[in-house]
Amino acid sequence: MYRTNTCGELRSSHCGEIVTLAGWVQRVRDLGAMTFVDLRDRYGITQLVADENTAEEIRNSVAGLGREFVIQATGVVRERSSKNPNLPTGDIEVELTGLKVLSASSVPPFTIQNDTDGGDDLRMKFRYLDLRRPMVQQNLFLRAKMAHSTRSYLADQGFIEVETPVMIKSTPEGARDFVVPSRMNPGQFYALPQSPQILKQLLMVAGFDRYFQIVKCFRDEDLRADRQPEFTQIDCEMSFVEQNDVLNTFEGLTRHLFREVKGIETGDFPRMSWAEAMARYGSDKPDIRYGMELVEITGMVKGKGFGMLDDALYTGGICVKGCAEYSRKQMDELTEWVKRPQIGAKGLLFVKIGVDGAIKSSLEKFLNADEMKALATTFGAEPGDLIMIIPGEKTATQNALGVLRIEMGNRLGLRPKYTFKPLWVIDFPLLEWNEESNRWSAMHHPFTSPKPEDIPLLDSDPGSVRANAYDLVINGVEIGGGSVRIFDSALQAQMFKVLGFTPEQAEAQFGFLMNAFKYGAPPHAGIAFGFDRLVSLFAGLDSIRDVIAFPKNNSGRDVMNDSPSVISEEQLKELHLLIDLKQSE
Ligand code: ASP
Repeated sequence: MYRTNTCGELRSSHCGEIVTLAGWVQRVRDLGAMTFVDLRDRYGITQLVADENTAEEIRNSVAGLGREFVIQATGVVRERSSKNPNLPTGDIEVELTGLKVLSASSVPPFTIQNDTDGGDDLRMKFRYLDLRRPMVQQNLFLRAKMAHSTRSYLADQGFIEVETPVMIKSTPEGARDFVVPSRMNPGQFYALPQSPQILKQLLMVAGFDRYFQIVKCFRDEDLRADRQPEFTQIDCEMSFVEQNDVLNTFEGLTRHLFREVKGIETGDFPRMSWAEAMARYGSDKPDIRYGMELVEITGMVKGKGFGMLDDALYTGGICVKGCAEYSRKQMDELTEWVKRPQIGAKGLLFVKIGVDGAIKSSLEKFLNADEMKALATTFGAEPGDLIMIIPGEKTATQNALGVLRIEMGNRLGLRPKYTFKPLWVIDFPLLEWNEESNRWSAMHHPFTSPKPEDIPLLDSDPGSVRANAYDLVINGVEIGGGSVRIFDSALQAQMFKVLGFTPEQAEAQFGFLMNAFKYGAPPHAGIAFGFDRLVSLFAGLDSIRDVIAFPKNNSGRDVMNDSPSVISEEQLKELHLLIDLKQSE
């Protein structure tokens, strides 16, 4: 037996027992007469001690220990003379009677503790050492607990977990595919799934009724803090359901996770249409933990001789409490910030309501005192408040105000990490105009059903067609999304046409789905949650990297195993990616 107890287990009640522990040496403190060793495993840290009563041989072994040695230690549990209230095992120590080095360690490149001295790059290169740090381990324990809790909840609701293949034909979710060359089929490639979308729909055609899978998905897109080229979804599909059934089921799952894992009751999730979310929060993933809602003032400021406002299709603003004191410099910085291409606002105007009620504004020349007062009233502004205004195109300007709202929310501390405010955003537009390819593309994916009442608009006014699509949003983060699906092959064919596919292209890419629909497809709908994001939200982390055991960096590289990497000429030839000139001669 390697150990009788773990390093997190022993308490005063164990005093007098002879125990054997195994773990990693966190540190050795030699105080002359006494030497202390902090021994660490997944469960905690226990202090071992050797003093003048300890056998010489053991004292010598202790002297030879270094950081991260793996040892097996036997001894007697005793009360500490100076207790450490910060450690669960802080009341006791183990007086060594035996010590065996199981494995020596080179000096690790950084200290293995929560406040490590290792930088990001180094920790990623030696991820297996980083993963020894308790706070990193905690994230993976949380992840495992959430996966377990999800499985048991969905199984209880009659969902069956089905594995779908990883080497498939392309399933589009709006990103590029990662592809795998086929050795046995020269010049042909598998695609890695951007999601199991088509496969789970086929499982509904097959009659499985309720499917789920905690599944890896792959998307070749530019990376950001909350993106990884491979990530995990809780992927689900249900038959004979309407939108409400899906929302209720997955609201149930989310509330269950909050309750089980965090001990939080969230209450019913509000439901808000996409149009309302955009109008009130300037975002399709609104953070509703705080107000600072957008106010449209297009009519109040148009036709006053201020070119920028006269030309604008939409003018709106936000009222930021207590920021009237913002200096000229601060306003200039914010103006530059909203003008960056990522946000793309034309400008930023302001109205400052001084604490004495005096109004200062970049609109002063164009609005009279009454108009200015009316403007302030529209925003519900009080003395000390700052109104920020952006004019422009409607959706783009709402988006810009939305980003500004989040920035000001951060500055004013209105986004506390551990307050959770989930909501459903529903009634998304079905299509969005793609400037680059000059055609409509599906906002969710091509299998999403239009709202039945909007179907007549599909040909005449595609942009105004709403979808039976929904997102779960928590604290300004899109946690998941899904839709009611098209299950009628004629409507699916019409949809492909609107998306600019010729019947031949649609047949080549999605023929097997269309075919399946000919053999009795049930009405079905589904959803997928971004599991990494959900875990990082629960953990209060900004990046999903910290909840993934072996993540990739911002360039999509795994710096630990140095991939992607070149492969041999031999492999390239086998895969028909390099033509063997000698052979083809
Ligand atoms: N396949 C979709 C996605 O990955 C989710 C869904 O529609 O169920 O976003």
